Amino acid sequence: AQPVLAVVGRPNVGKSTLVNRILGRREAVVQDVPGVTRDRVAYDAQWSGRRFTMVDTGGWEPGATGLQGAVAAQAEFAMTTADAVLLVVDATVGATATDEAVVRVLRRSKRPVLLAANKVDDQRLLADTAALWSLGLGEPHPVSGLHGRGSGDLLDAVIAAL
Ligand code: GDP
Ligand code: MG
Repeated sequence: AQPVLAVVGRPNVGKSTLVNRILGRREAVVQDVPGVTRDRVAYDAQWSGRRFTMVDTGGWEPGATGLQGAVAAQAEFAMTTADAVLLVVDATVGATATDEAVVRVLRRSKRPVLLAANKVDDQRLLADTAALWSLGLGEPHPVSGLHGRGSGDLLDAVIAAL
């Protein structure tokens, strides 16, 4: 079977946009309304001749757990099924309490975790990217899912981790 990359993170950070960018087609559901992605949708992806399965997460059941619990639950599930996890953070917002909660979940995983600093649409936002070293996941990879900036370097790191 192909290796699996799970894409996790808060609603609206641009997970589905980034997944579409990586797929090179428009399949993952992108919405301005948080939480629209259906729970866990898997896609076949390819980079540098390597095939892998990409799982876009994001839906959650409203109620008991709240947003932070829901995102953490997605991360928890991702760890059990994925060979590597891509945590997407909105670099223009910075690390939030929810991001930090997800990191605590992901730390328990033996799987490699990569950090994408999304919405780095231009050079001026690189300082915001550097601030995300504070999450303790190593190098934040600046990307713009919207414009495609940085996605090649991110994918090189993904392939190396899978
Ligand atoms: P998800 O909930 O994490 O899957 O986020 P979506 O992919 O649905 O995107 C949420 C919003 O962020 C949409 O309005 C996107 O157009 C916007 N967005 C996603 N990626 C980028 C980016 O790289 N730059 C900017 N400026 N906006 C983005
Ligand atoms: Mg989504």
